[in-house]
Parts: sequence; structure tokens; C-alpha cells
Amino acid sequence: MKETVVSGIRSTGKLHLGNYYGAVKNFVQMQNDFNCYFFIADLHSLTTHPTPADLHGNIKHVLVEYLASGIDPETSTIYIQSDVPEIAELYLYLNMNAYMGELERSTSFKDKVRSNPDNVNAGLLTYPVLMAADILIHKATKVPVGKDQEQHLEMARTFGNRFNRLYDTPYFPEPYAFNYSEKLVKVPGLDGKGKMGKSEGEGNAVYLSDDPETIRKKVMRAVSDGGPTEENQEKPEAIQNLFDLMKVVSSADTHEHFSDLYNKMQIRYGDFKKQLAEDMIIATAPMRERIMDVAKNDTYLRQVAKHGAIKARESAQKTIKEVRSLIGFKSF
Ligand code: AMP
Repeated sequence: MKETVVSGIRSTGKLHLGNYYGAVKNFVQMQNDFNCYFFIADLHSLTTHPTPADLHGNIKHVLVEYLASGIDPETSTIYIQSDVPEIAELYLYLNMNAYMGELERSTSFKDKVRSNPDNVNAGLLTYPVLMAADILIHKATKVPVGKDQEQHLEMARTFGNRFNRLYDTPYFPEPYAFNYSEKLVKVPGLDGKGKMGKSEGEGNAVYLSDDPETIRKKVMRAVSDGGPTEENQEKPEAIQNLFDLMKVVSSADTHEHFSDLYNKMQIRYGDFKKQLAEDMIIATAPMRERIMDVAKNDTYLRQVAKHGAIKARESAQKTIKEVRSLIGFKSF
């Protein structure tokens, strides 16, 4: 039997190149080898209090972009998290055995408290419990996530094992972080400091739906410097980031060509950025076209969401029935 994979992306906006090369591309490659559940994490996005219109629009972006990237709703199960209320029910049960101390020690919680001191809500604190429910609801063993998520996976194992101990049965298997393509990709942003992300500020991220002119403008404005001052010098972070982006979207020959020019101090950043922008445009063009096509087809989107919810609920209802029985809920 194929192993079960679960992964989701928060519906907090459009997908960028980091989401695609770090996560969604892997989803597409692994769908034939595993029993895959890919979901749109709209419950998770509520910690940031979106307006109803933004919430709906963002869910649609992720659904459209999953499909445009090549996830096949027949081979995999694509669903919207809030369409599967069993996840919220399991989250409630798991919360009873998740302790304040361990939740407060989570690195991502501490980061969020630091960056958003005015919105430290209980949903943020129990975010790893909801993530554990997302995974355990399908009894998944493999979770394709980035390195940043390893601690959450460890917490999911802790909560699953604690449930197993409490009810004295090896019910939940242990889920592990998993990277299908072996090497972990971290896509840098255009602002010269760290990774591409939705919340890293305007101009940092290139979205799959960006048109060619927008991509050119963003790349030409990317942070660089005055150029190399010595042959074969180590590249500063902003320049290394642009080369790393080139590695993701351009051919190996192109990357080598510009690396050589840099090492010989002959690089012209204008040409380098122009090439990077054109290769990004080529890499994203087929998806951009499909995004526009799929976004127009509301009937198809409705069908996919409905079909996905049915398949995901089938698996989730089986788990919840067994969990309720293990906990001791019985009908009179
Ligand atoms: P997020 O947008 O933070 O909800 O992330 C959704 C998924 O995309 C996760 O699996 C992340 O590991 C992945 N991801 C987000 N940003 C990047 C990036 N810059 N490089 C690689 N993977 C990323």
C-alpha cells in the first residue's frame, strides 16, 4: 500500500516562487508515488484575521495555483481545510493533551510574539496542534515541508504518541518531515536579505501570476551592490541570493557563464538581471497562462473543491469515528 502524504499551504495570498520551488513542485512530482492529500490551510490563516472577502479570494488563489501547477485532483486529494470539520474536532481532542509550556517554547510561536506583540491569540499558540490534526486526521507518515517546519513535526509526533499512550493503543503512526527531491530548496527573495516570503515586504517576492513586465521591474530593482572588487571574491548575501535564484530558474550554463563573469570582475548587473528576469518569465509562463484559464472556470473550481472535500472527509470521518470510540464516547 502507498504511504500517505499530507501537506498544505496557508491561504494568506498568492503563491510565489518560494512556495512553488520549495513545496508545490514537489507535490506535483510525488503524486503518483504516494496517497497524497494537499489542502488549503484556511483555518490556519484565521490567526491573522482576514476580512471575509480576502479570505475567500486567497483560498481561490491557492486552489487555482495548485491546479495550474499540475496537481491532479483525480490522482491526489485537493481540499479546503475548513470543508473538513473533522479536523477541527481532532484539534479539540489533541488540545486537551497539549501543554502550555511546550506550546510556548515553540520557535515559531516565539517569533510571532516578537513580530506581532499586539495579536498573540490562542490560535497562534495552538497552531502546532492544528497542524498535528491536519496530519494525524489522515494518519499520514510523510509531510513534505521545509526545514523551518521540523519542530512542528516533532510536536505532531509528540501529540500522536501521547494520545496512543493515554488510550493504550498504537493508533497514530509517526509523521516525519520529508523532501521528495532530496535537496532542500530555499528560494531567496529580491530584497538582499533572506528568503522569499509573502510577509517580507513589497518587491521581495515574485508571484506565479506576475506578468512579464512586473517580473522585469521587480528583478531590475532587486538589491545588488557596486560590483566585485577582487577576482574570485566571496559573494555578499544580496548577490549570492540573485545567483541562487538564477540556479532555480535558469540553465546550468547560464549560471556558470555569469559566475565566471563575476569571478573575473567583468559582470554587468544590468545584463545579469535582465537574463534572470527573462528566465523567470520563461519558467513561470505556462503556469501564468493556466492560472488565468483556471481562474475563469468557477464551475470547474466548485467541482474540484466539492470532490476533494468528499474524498478528504471519507478518510477524516473514519479516523474521527475510531478516535471517538477510543476516547470513550458511546451512544446511549
Ligand atoms: P507559507 O507561504 O509560509 O505558508 O509556506 C508554504 C510552503 O512553502 C511551506 O512548505 C514552505 O516551506 C514553502 N516555502 C515558503 N517560502 C519558501 C522559500 N522562500 N523557499 C522555499 N520554500 C518556501
